[in-house]
Amino acid sequence: MIIIGGGVAGLMAALAAAPHPVTLVNPTTLGPGAASWLSQGGIAAAVGDDDDVSLHIKDTLEAGAGLCNPDVVARIISAGPAVIDTLLAYGVTFDRTGSGARALGLEAAHSRRRILHGGGDRTGATIMKALIEKVQRCPSINIIKASAERIFVDDNGVSGIQIQRDGHRLSLKTDRVLLATGGIGGLFRDTTNPPSAVGQGLILAMEAGAEFKDLEFVQFHPTALAVKESSLPLVSEAVRGEGARLVDEAGNYFMNGKDLAPRDVVARHVFLHRANGHQTFLDISGFSERFSDRFPSISAACNNADIDLSSHLIPVKPAAHYHMGGVKVDEMGRTNIDGLFAAGEVACTGLHGANRLASNSLLEAVVCGQVSGRFMAAQGARRTGALQEITFPAKADATEVRDIMSDYCGVLRSGKALEIASGLLEALAINNPAAALSLKIVEAALERKDSVGSHMRVEFSMEKAA
Ligand SMILES: Cc1cc2nc3c(=O)[nH]c(=O)nc-3n(C[C@H](O)[C@H](O)[C@H](O)COP(=O)(O)OP(=O)(O)OC[C@H]3O[C@@H](n4cnc5c(N)ncnc54)[C@H](O)[C@@H]3O)c2cc1C
Repeated sequence: MIIIGGGVAGLMAALAAAPHPVTLVNPTTLGPGAASWLSQGGIAAAVGDDDDVSLHIKDTLEAGAGLCNPDVVARIISAGPAVIDTLLAYGVTFDRTGSGARALGLEAAHSRRRILHGGGDRTGATIMKALIEKVQRCPSINIIKASAERIFVDDNGVSGIQIQRDGHRLSLKTDRVLLATGGIGGLFRDTTNPPSAVGQGLILAMEAGAEFKDLEFVQFHPTALAVKESSLPLVSEAVRGEGARLVDEAGNYFMNGKDLAPRDVVARHVFLHRANGHQTFLDISGFSERFSDRFPSISAACNNADIDLSSHLIPVKPAAHYHMGGVKVDEMGRTNIDGLFAAGEVACTGLHGANRLASNSLLEAVVCGQVSGRFMAAQGARRTGALQEITFPAKADATEVRDIMSDYCGVLRSGKALEIASGLLEALAINNPAAALSLKIVEAALERKDSVGSHMRVEFSMEKAA
């Protein structure tokens, strides 16, 4: 079997499939190119003494604004404590308190402290390093540094993929492929994602004929570091969980004490406050421990941007962060195409509904990667036809797309703005798959004539923005 993408979802799937032979395709050396590596706050699981899976399920359903699939929520959230044990067995080390107990962080809309973190705010890198080491030592996993460009599908389903490696194109035959390619933040001007995350997996799936679900639900994080680059360092919600508050240049705490409201609510407040001409900051003056001890990578990002932490003010703004929608999959990660599976951010399982609860995405990627890997390995072989000819697909170029998506399909949307986006993208979509994918997102946003979770249409129920 072939796994496309070496983030946490792909790595977990490869390990779960062992000893079944796996080819893992990733464009760069495994590590920092994946969003997984950048994860800060942590991974959510009901492991605290005062916590219970039922509470985690309730918080997830509430954040999802009525659009989560309750069965999927129950299944994935219930798998949390056991998958944390698997990660520990794989060599992941989570932070502990001075007394040796598990250090559990708090994030928005969680009713309990349940965020396991590693290396302070370097959770993603901590998990990835352990998984990469394990994958590299696993004899059944063959890692290829290449980009997947096409999924071959014939009347019986998947028959192989086309990859590009060092400028050369070649095809690989297989009867099963797992897409684990991450998100779409790079389709927007400001994003916390790696700039290369322009939805390559969704483009592959779209061209193969896979069904999508909930494409309009894009989560904007309220507190990306307000610097000039387009790929913005994140200032994790865990910072607000530890007491930081949103404030403007006049010292007005404009969230009125609701700094840990669901992410979509806070993102809209920050967006509107800025649209009204204000600057927005996180006030970290209430921290009792040294900020740089608990949040070393955020401190380093501030230092790189010449932000003086002794002022206790970190400039922040909203940025595209996470895609709740994606390739429609069932409980095993199966798509509508025989032999094509998806896991992690590229997939839409129904866990997040209209709004992801913080730190549930690493959990979903780890659990679903594991489930799909195991299931795919256990499948009997399927006859596949001859490989199709090598083609030369158009490049997914987000340069012109980013402004369109940010200006017309961002934190606040309207039918009029989405119509403009649709017209502009139609012209670009003919030979640019990033524009074709963006057009699909805009069409889904036009289709949903409501304001719900992360999808806020100004002509429908704006009071929900409060
Ligand atoms: C800054 C930041 C902080 C975050 N913090 C948290 C957090 O604290 N907790 C949490 O739960 N979630 C967090 N998230 C979200 C979470 O990190 C992601 O949703 C999750 O890691 C996605 O994992 P993945 O394996 O699906 O994709 P990724 O980790 O993005 O990996 C995808 C891989 O696929 C590769 N790929 C893409 N296209 C192709 C192709 N065509 N061919 C071959 N390979 C390809 C990419 O290069 C990449 O290596 C954060 C995200 C960001 C950006």
